[in-house]
This record gives sequence, C-alpha cells and structure tokens, in this order.
Amino acid sequence: MQANLLEGKNAVVTGGAAGIGRAIAQAFAAEGAGVAICDLDYDGAKKAAEEIRSDGAIAKAYETDVSDWESVMQVAEKALEDFGVIDILVNNAGITRDNLIIRMSDEEWNDVLDVNLKGVFNFTKAFVPGMLRRRSGKIISIASVVGIMGNAGQANYAASKAGIIGFTKSLARELAPRRINVNAIAPGFIKTGMTEVLGEEQKSALSERIPLSRLGEPEDVARSALFLASELSDYITGQVLVVDGGMVM
Ligand code: NAP
Repeated sequence: MQANLLEGKNAVVTGGAAGIGRAIAQAFAAEGAGVAICDLDYDGAKKAAEEIRSDGAIAKAYETDVSDWESVMQVAEKALEDFGVIDILVNNAGITRDNLIIRMSDEEWNDVLDVNLKGVFNFTKAFVPGMLRRRSGKIISIASVVGIMGNAGQANYAASKAGIIGFTKSLARELAPRRINVNAIAPGFIKTGMTEVLGEEQKSALSERIPLSRLGEPEDVARSALFLASELSDYITGQVLVVDGGMVM
C-alpha cells in the first residue's frame, strides 16, 4: 500500500468551496491527490485552492454551475488540460429549497433537481469517458439520509437524493466491467452553511435523535469519501455509506 492513500491521483470535487466539499478536497490533498475544485462560488473555490496549495499540495479552482451542461463541458476540458487525467470524481454540490408540497413552486422543484441530480449526471457524463478508456476510476456522489427516510418539507430535496442513489446503483452495474467503482455517501446532519439555519434548540433536539449524540463535522464525511476514493475500497461498488452518527439503521 502507498504511504499516502491518493498519491499520484487527481480528483474533481464539485461544490468544493465550502462545507463538506471543501473538507473532502482538503482530505484528498493531504493524502497526495491533486484537486480540481469546481464551484459556483469562484472566490470561495479560489480561497480553498490557495489554502491547499499553501500546505504544499496541488489544487486549482474552476467556476462552474453543475446544472449547466455547457459550463460543465468547459470546466471538464480545462481540468483535463491542467491535470491530464482525472481518477476520482466527487459529485458533492447540492442545494435546498424547502417548502411544503402545497406551497412548493415549480422553480423550487426544478432548481433542486437541476443542481442535485442533473448536476451529478452532467459531471459524471463529462468525466466518465476518460475513466472508461483507462479502465479505472472512482465516482462518489453525496446523497443524504433524507433520500432514504424522507423529510417533511423536503420532497424536492429527498427526490433528488433518492435519485442519486438509483443513479449510483445503475452506474455501478454499468461501469463495473471497466473497474470503475461508483458509490454514494448519505450524510446525516452535518455542521455546514446548509444546516446553519437551524437554531440551537433544533440542533440539540436533533442530537437527541442521534445515537452518537452529536451533529457531524464535514471531516466525518470527508474521511468516508477518502476511503471510497482510495484502493482500500476497490471491492466495494453500488453502495450507500450512511454517515449520520447512527440515526438511520
Ligand atoms: P454548503 O456548505 O452549502 O456547500 C455547498 C457548495 O456547493 C457551496 O460552495 C455552493 O456554492 C456550491 N454550489 C451550490 N450550487 C452549485 C452549483 N449549481 N454548481 C456548483 N456549485 C454549487 O453545503 P454542504 O452542507 O457542504 O453540502 C454538500 C453536499 O452534502 C450537498 O450535496 C448536500 O445536499 C449534502 N448533504 C449535506 C448535509 C448537511 O447536513 N450539511 C446532509 C446531507 C447531505 P454557493 O455558496 O455559491 O451556493
């Protein structure tokens, strides 16, 4: 086994400017990977890449809207030019637009499905040809426990995350003959900008529902992504790794 888990590998992380994506990019870089950080928030992506470079690793920022195929194709071209080969794809970018179904607008439905699910399709389509040619690769998509158990007020988000799980299993079967592993991670409640809106009372009520009695840190998810990106998980495909302190079991 290599001293560093991802030595010589290159990874693309969508939504890598903040939260879970940023922690994944940092964890991968710390294990020797070159990292392409793709985000709508270009300033945030540049900052994240600079931070990684200041630790002596390789990182580059790209402005991307994962829901826009043209934008994805342009970034894929640039990233492949810069890095040569992309071995690992982490589909992490995601948004919420919560509402009860009777109030949910077409826009709220479409925005969430476009970013969370079509974004996964777009990035996978852009990077899978190189993986197919090399007969190796790791694709990891960030779903959610909400895609498994549902959540009132999040029908759009839950549908997008359940969609990611179906996409992952289908693609795992399709790409297994070319030795490309396709897995998903289903985080529970993780402390990021996405969950910042929750009040302290809501957070402590949530913690009571979590067997490990705490909300997760972005690094908790990043370590699982590292495992799924490395050769430690070579015999694992089509799985959903739940990282939620034991909430769903
Ligand atoms: P976050 O802190 O909000 O970070 C998400 C990043 O994605 C932001 O930098 C955001 O940029 C970017 N992004 C949003 N829309 C994009 C687009 N169209 N194209 C490219 N980048 C885009 O979220 P997070 O909590 O780290 O979530 C990361 C992933 O984990 C998401 O898929 C989320 O659904 C999933 N997840 C999170 C939790 C949780 O508790 N936090 C639980 C389960 C699953 P802007 O800031 O410009 O929007």
